[in-house]
Amino acid sequence: MQTQLISVLKRNNMSITIPRHTVFEVLSSSEPLTMSELIEACSDKMDKASVYRTVSLYEHLSIVQRLQIGWKYKLELSNDFQPHHHHLTCTLCHTMITLPENNDLETHFHDLAKLHGFVNADHQLEIKGICPRCQSRNTATKS
Ligand SMILES: [Zn+2]
Ligand SMILES: [Zn+2]
Repeated sequence: MQTQLISVLKRNNMSITIPRHTVFEVLSSSEPLTMSELIEACSDKMDKASVYRTVSLYEHLSIVQRLQIGWKYKLELSNDFQPHHHHLTCTLCHTMITLPENNDLETHFHDLAKLHGFVNADHQLEIKGICPRCQSRNTATKS
């Protein structure tokens, strides 16, 4: 993955720097993060302005993508840099879980597209609901 990053940067006449390396490393080893969570995670290596600058560069180069959750968003590596996956999001606390690959589901979507004569079909699937923690918090306040 790191070599893929370097080749994308090289193609754009850029080199790998510590901030670029750090942002990529943090995003590749965690669940999707908000901008402030990312800044926090990078804080020992770089300042806030560098995180903003690097993220905006990465969005421009399609290395990073935004996941919109209501009016907020989280950041993750784009599909070119990680295997295809889906998310489960809590609508109350915005906790996001990356679901493991499910081949049955993928085959099903593939077959659906094929049934309608589509080729090179792609999809995005976000599941929303209320997480166990928020469920227990709600019953605790009610009783
Ligand atoms: Zn929740
Ligand atoms: Zn899928």
